[in-house]
Amino acid sequence: MALKAMVFIDGSWLYRSRSAVFAKLGEENFEVDYARLPRLLCEELANTIDEDVSLVRTMYFGTIPSARSSFNTGKQRAFYEFLESVCHYETKIHEVEIGGGENLADDAWISMSLASSMMYYAAMPAAYDVAILVSDNRVYAPALHAVRLLGKRTQIVSLRTADGTEPPFGVTLVGKSRVMDFAPIYLDDHAAELKLVRELRKRTCKQCGREEETTWAGSDFFCSECRGKHHRRD
Ligand SMILES: [Zn+2]
Repeated sequence: MALKAMVFIDGSWLYRSRSAVFAKLGEENFEVDYARLPRLLCEELANTIDEDVSLVRTMYFGTIPSARSSFNTGKQRAFYEFLESVCHYETKIHEVEIGGGENLADDAWISMSLASSMMYYAAMPAAYDVAILVSDNRVYAPALHAVRLLGKRTQIVSLRTADGTEPPFGVTLVGKSRVMDFAPIYLDDHAAELKLVRELRKRTCKQCGREEETTWAGSDFFCSECRGKHHRRD
């Protein structure tokens, strides 16, 4: 029987890590193939343990400025919606106050929320066998210990340093004892596979029926004009 894996993504860590992955390809910027990422991690794990790995769910943890702030969060909301509807992630997005001196606590929201979910599903019978944590932040060590005490296995997803070597011992989770069952997967080793390749093609607008060239791969397509009207309504 295939091992059941749940992927837990620290959105803040992944966002910050992108530049290291880009650098690996010698590129300034490209888009991460978010739909591919969880499957890639499961394939890597399957190769390591020589067993089938089945992806149960991908949970993504992030923050967004609160409605009270004057920030335009449209782009961020669209990104989180894309993760849900196109990539089939389950997102947990926490509203945070910006500018109230609380900024430093953003990552605490994410790590608390992620650790709670990882523990919750670990205690839930048969929810998962392996937790794949996309972050190498040391704050997750206690949660990983607890998950392993419940008999679950853990896979950490980390980054090598800029010069291609592994991070110094003790700086990240990777140097901690009793936190993982397998060698870490280094995202920058898979840079080429993580790069989103967009195809330009003609699609029909769901609203007005006009055809337009787009790289949008989601299920419903709306042309630029209809999208504009929609945003003005908001
Ligand atoms: Zn249209």
